[in-house]
Order: sequence, then structure tokens, then C-alpha cells
Amino acid sequence: MHKAPVELQRKKNKYFFMKTDLFEAPDYYLLDDLLTDEQKLIRDSARSWVKKEVSPIIEEYYEKAEFPSQIIKGLGEIGAFGPYIPEEYGGAGLDQISYGLIMQELERGDSGIRSTASVQSSLVMYPIWKYGSEEQKRKFLPKLATGEWIGCFGLTEPDHGSNPGGMLSNYKDEGDHYLLNGSKMWISNAPFAQVAVVWAKNEEGRIHGLLVEKGMEGFSAPEMHGKWSLRASSTGELIFDNVKVPKENLLPGRSGLGAPLSCLDSARYGISWGALGAAMDCYDSALRYSKERIQFDKPIGAFQLTQKKLAEMITEITKGQLLAWRLGSLKNEDRATSAQISMAKRNNVDIALKIAREARQIHGAMGISNEYPMMRHMMNLESVITYEGTHDIHLLITGADVTGEMAFK
Ligand SMILES: Cc1cc2nc3c(=O)[nH]c(=O)nc-3n(C[C@H](O)[C@H](O)[C@H](O)COP(=O)(O)OP(=O)(O)OC[C@H]3O[C@@H](n4cnc5c(N)ncnc54)[C@H](O)[C@@H]3O)c2cc1C
Repeated sequence: MHKAPVELQRKKNKYFFMKTDLFEAPDYYLLDDLLTDEQKLIRDSARSWVKKEVSPIIEEYYEKAEFPSQIIKGLGEIGAFGPYIPEEYGGAGLDQISYGLIMQELERGDSGIRSTASVQSSLVMYPIWKYGSEEQKRKFLPKLATGEWIGCFGLTEPDHGSNPGGMLSNYKDEGDHYLLNGSKMWISNAPFAQVAVVWAKNEEGRIHGLLVEKGMEGFSAPEMHGKWSLRASSTGELIFDNVKVPKENLLPGRSGLGAPLSCLDSARYGISWGALGAAMDCYDSALRYSKERIQFDKPIGAFQLTQKKLAEMITEITKGQLLAWRLGSLKNEDRATSAQISMAKRNNVDIALKIAREARQIHGAMGISNEYPMMRHMMNLESVITYEGTHDIHLLITGADVTGEMAFK
């Protein structure tokens, strides 16, 4: 009988190990009672999909720094692209809590997977739906909803990150088209996107959104390499060298910095749920490990210092879950403010990062191996705490909201 070589056997064992996803979601305050049957169904189907399609492959793709493009179709099928976009445009027509729950489950799998879905939903489909013409909605939204097309969102520039209003990208009216010049940096999904929502200034210095399509002359989107974080997500530049953009590709519904910021509000809201997913995964793994790992003849979970870590983790997760759920309810009623969203994004990413670090410590040396998810979540969360408004900028937004004094300008 043919005997598999050791290396192959080792790989097989590793593959088998990685396929076994034992995740059980913590729900300390019985928050499931606050969800509708539909919300629970959506959450559970996203959770099963992640266990089947993401968990078995994520470490391999993370290691090789590649986005697993084979899951795009499945993301479309579970409604992860434009969950709250109306069905007439191909979206799932769901409420905001359902959107949040899908982001939670995806980021439980990996922040990079959630990023792809967040960008597609809140930074590409949302502006087209909110500010696009009817023709733009019909042309782009259904294809984006299924994943046939992937989009990206170009706001950040090499010299303008936290201060996007200073952007240099610009376009001129050339009669029958616009002529776009400039560049964007750190753009998620850019290398494989069919359409980029690009924010640029017109001749009067007013910011508008333009739909720049793959293949337009002078437009390129090279991949950025060397990331230690969000490695299973593809990040690139956007370069515009005299790109002729058809006039019908301008988003007509809104201009000014408020337009891209409103998209970021929607994405940041999703992140406040998503980060909880990563935190829950780390906590779940640490709790299980603390019951199994014996030192000094006892499970390490019997030591007070381990219990302190676990007790603090579940407390912070529970507070974060309440924050996200309440914010989702306010969003459903169209009452959530940008500052409230800032608070939830900042808090939930912060606690997730701290939980990832503590959970890693509970696993001892095993915590640094890719047999457990903490290091990957931890490295991912270093991006999540920076993008969509840094940790400190969100603090200053809360500060400005309560004092009426803006401290970041
Ligand atoms: C993996 C990844 C994916 C990304 N995807 C996208 C994307 O799809 N689209 C997109 O447009 N952008 C994207 N970004 C860019 C991201 O939004 C920016 O990195 C972020 O806005 C911060 O900008 P910066 O990196 O230029 O940092 P800077 O703005 O240079 O900030 C550096 C530091 O200075 C601090 N700082 C800045 N201003 C102040 C102030 N006034 N007061 C106090 N502290 C201040 C910041 O908090 C930070 O700590 C992505 C980034 C990453 C890492």
C-alpha cells in the first residue's frame, strides 16, 4: 500500500487540525434574547459558513499573504455584500443589526475577510445607493451584491490619512469627460477591484465621488506588499494619470467631505461588531485552553491570575456587545450619530486588541503558533485600530462632541 511521505502526512494532519473549528460564541448576558428570529438565523448561517469556508483555509492564506478569492461567491450568497441595500438593487434588504452580526461572524473568521465585505458594502455599494444616479445603481449594485464585481474605496493618499480633506487628487471638466489625476494609498481590495469609488477635488476644490473602472486608460492599482497585518486582504495603490472618466460616472447626489465620511460611518459601525467577533474567538480559545492545559497538577484556569484575565475579557466583550446592539437599534431608527459610532468603533477595537494579547498569554508558547488564532487576530487588529479613523482621532471626536471644542485641527 502506498504510504504518504512524512511531509505530506504532516501537512494532512495540519490541514485536518485547521479544519476543526470548535468556536462557541460567548453570550454572558443572554443577548440572543434581544435578537429577532431572522437576525439569529442570519448570524447562524454566517457562522456555519465561516466554519466551513474560512476556518480551514485562513492560516494558509494569511501565511502566503493572499486574499482567498474563491470565497467571494459564497460571501455574496450569505448576503455579506450590501446586507442592508434594498432587494430591488440586488441587496439582501436586511436591518442594521443583521449587517452587524454578519460582520461579527466574518471577523471571527478573519479581519481581512470582514474588511473585504465592509468595503464592498459600506464604502462602495452604500455611496452608489445613496448618492448614485438610477443608471449607476442599476449598472453596479446587482453585480456588486453577488460578488461578480468587487469594488474599492479611495480616500487616503500618501500625504493625507487622518486629514483626508487636504487631498491632492483632482479632476478637470474637459467638456465631454473629466480628467482625473492623483494617487491613493492603502486601498483595500484595490488590486482586484472592477470599480473604485474615488474621492477627488474639482476645479473649485470641492470633493466629489467618481466611479473609476478597471481598464480605463491611465488607471492602475498595484498591490502593496510587506504587510504584517491583514495579510489575507489585498491592499493596493490607485494611480490616476490623466484618466478620462465619463461624466455619467460622477456620483451626483452629494459632494463635500461629508459624503465619504458618511460612508465611513457605515463601515465603522460594521467594524464595531466585527472587532467583537475577533475578541470572541480569542476568548473562546483561551477559555477552552485554560480548562485543558495542566500545570502544577491543575488546569491553568484554576489559577486566580488566569481567571482574572478571562473574567475581564468576558466583561469587556459583554459591554461591547451591548454597545453594538444599542448602536444597531439606533441605526435602525436612523438616530445614530457619527460620534456614537466613533465611540463604539474605538472601544470595541481597543478591547479586542487587548483581549487578543491576553488570550495569547493564556496559551503560553502555543499562543504564538498558527494552530491558534490569537496572533493573527492581534496583528489584524493593529490595522483595524488604525484604519477608518485611528484610535486617537476617534477619541478626539468624542472629546469634540462632549465639549464642543475640536482638538484635532
Ligand atoms: C490595511 C489597511 C487598509 C486600509 N484600507 C483603506 C481603504 O480601503 N481606503 C482608504 O481610503 N484608506 C484605507 N486605509 C488607510 C487608513 O484609513 C489610514 O491609514 C488612516 O486613516 C490613518 O491615516 P495614516 O495612516 O496616514 O496616519 P496619519 O494620519 O499620518 O496618523 C499618524 C498618527 O498621528 C495621529 N494623528 C494624526 N492627526 C492627529 C491629530 N490631529 N491629533 C492627534 N493625533 C493625530 C494618528 O492618530 C496616528 O497615530 C487602510 C489602512 C490600512 C492599514
